[in-house]
Amino acid sequence: MSGEEKTAPSNFIRQVIDGDLASGKHTAVATRFPPEPNGYLHIGHAKSIVLNFGIAEDYRGTCNLRFDDTNPHKENIEFVEAIKEDVNWLGYEWNALFFASDYFDQLYAFAEELIKAGKAYVCELDADQMREHRGTLKEPGRESPFRSRAPEENLDLFRRMRNGEFPDGSRTLRAKIDMASPNINMRDPVLYRIRHGVVHHQTGDEWCLYPMYDFTHPISDALEGITHSLCTLEFEDHRPLYDWVLDNITIPCHPQQIEFSRLNLQYTVMSKRKLTQLVTEGHVDGWDDPRMPTIAGLRRRGYTPAAIRDFVHRIGVTKADNTVEMGVLENSIREALDPVAPRRMAVLRPLKMVITNYPEDAEAQLEAANHPKDETLGIRRVPFCREVYIDREDFREQAPGKFKRLVSGGEVRLRNAYVVRCDEVIKNPDGEVVELRCSYDPDTLGANPPDRKVKGVIHWVSARHAHHAEVWLYDRLFRHPAPDSDRSVADWTEHLNPESLVTLTECVLEASLADVDPGLAYQFEREGYFCRDAKFAALDRPVFNRIVTLRDSWAKMDQKGG
Ligand code: ATP
Ligand code: MG
Repeated sequence: MSGEEKTAPSNFIRQVIDGDLASGKHTAVATRFPPEPNGYLHIGHAKSIVLNFGIAEDYRGTCNLRFDDTNPHKENIEFVEAIKEDVNWLGYEWNALFFASDYFDQLYAFAEELIKAGKAYVCELDADQMREHRGTLKEPGRESPFRSRAPEENLDLFRRMRNGEFPDGSRTLRAKIDMASPNINMRDPVLYRIRHGVVHHQTGDEWCLYPMYDFTHPISDALEGITHSLCTLEFEDHRPLYDWVLDNITIPCHPQQIEFSRLNLQYTVMSKRKLTQLVTEGHVDGWDDPRMPTIAGLRRRGYTPAAIRDFVHRIGVTKADNTVEMGVLENSIREALDPVAPRRMAVLRPLKMVITNYPEDAEAQLEAANHPKDETLGIRRVPFCREVYIDREDFREQAPGKFKRLVSGGEVRLRNAYVVRCDEVIKNPDGEVVELRCSYDPDTLGANPPDRKVKGVIHWVSARHAHHAEVWLYDRLFRHPAPDSDRSVADWTEHLNPESLVTLTECVLEASLADVDPGLAYQFEREGYFCRDAKFAALDRPVFNRIVTLRDSWAKMDQKGG
């Protein structure tokens, strides 16, 4: 991790830890990050990763990576590998790597302990009956007719469940707690269910009995000696069950569960189910599509680990639910790239300019600074010749005085080069401008003309030396700030932004961008920050992704209300 990065700001969780260390409750801190390998990690997970691994780092403690793999039918090894890669890429090393399935034998033994103590029973209600017995927030639940079975009978049935004697759904193991509890999670929750025929990515077909999350999680935490078990707010109501499990088995460790609010981000969705749907229905090009809020997508888009960590520090850790503006994430990468990204010239919508008074076979290597504010980034040479490309948007035949770029008959400075005047506009039979004939003022290299003011500066690329590329402009994946909570549409995918990807196929880049590493971001002057796509190369041309625009154009639009 980079040394200059400021340390994480404090938060209520760090205050609890400070207290526990001061009181001597703990002498070392142990945390864990417990993803379920049923999808790729997203920016919400990054919040949890930075929190858990960051605490371990700052308190010189440990943080484990533990796969919560108790739902084998939804999980697979591709996700396991992707999660490991993403955690490492974010800049973290786990102290130890575990799977909840590593503990299946121990979990099973603890279940038998509960049964023997009369604290768990085998229930034969099916899913519908169980729901019906559960009661509601206002009404207490009803006890299962199987609740008072003797421990020996429960033990026998549970062992037979494990041996595969009963079909899926016919029996569950339930904790015997309190069907009248105001907390529905405490109304005899299911601890184990039967699942035949799934091949678990870690344990194969060894088990047909799988423990539930609420049973697995506290025990896994305790077996690893976790001190502070950090999770999102929706588990607050599960905390009494977390504590009940640990209080009713013989285990020496009792981690403290602390909840914090999840990260929600505007203009995107964050639930793994919905992200899966975007991938499987082909709305995006896989989990690493640069428009996805996944770590893999952000990486391909050109986000850096430091920018993501910085973003997480900016949003902070609290118990208040809120939705963060996309602009906050975008500002993190903008501010990370601005001081370090070399400047380059790239013309995204080329229009040819012929400089009629520049000799046909001549060419010059002009000096250009790599960064306007940091001389240490050095200079490069950009070739200049009789034909250059400028951006179509930088020319108007006629324009109001506010237009600071090139107009017919007017002058403009070519950045790092000369002042040119537009003498003639060539059009095709459809009346489209296809070429500009200009003349340059040889006395204006690095100097203003003494007799007149030329205000505009535009970028350009030498036609003879141009490097051809595609440039893919990404925008928000959704047009609605909260696509999955708007009830006015039948389906949240209706809010997908049809312009979230615009591919420009005829772009020309300055020659120095010919062979660049996908991991390096550049500022294409006046256009934004870009990096080469690591995945695609269109035929003989590379693809460059727009990481982020130079300014937040949405903020302006949002203000105008449109
Ligand atoms: P989803 O509901 O999208 O499937 P999940 O909570 O089931 O997410 P897990 O893989 O179980 O995903 O999450 C691993 C850890 O990351 C958990 O501790 C979880 O609380 C945390 N986490 C998941 N989403 C967010 C989020 N949006 N903000 C902060 N932490 C999150
Ligand atoms: Mg989960």
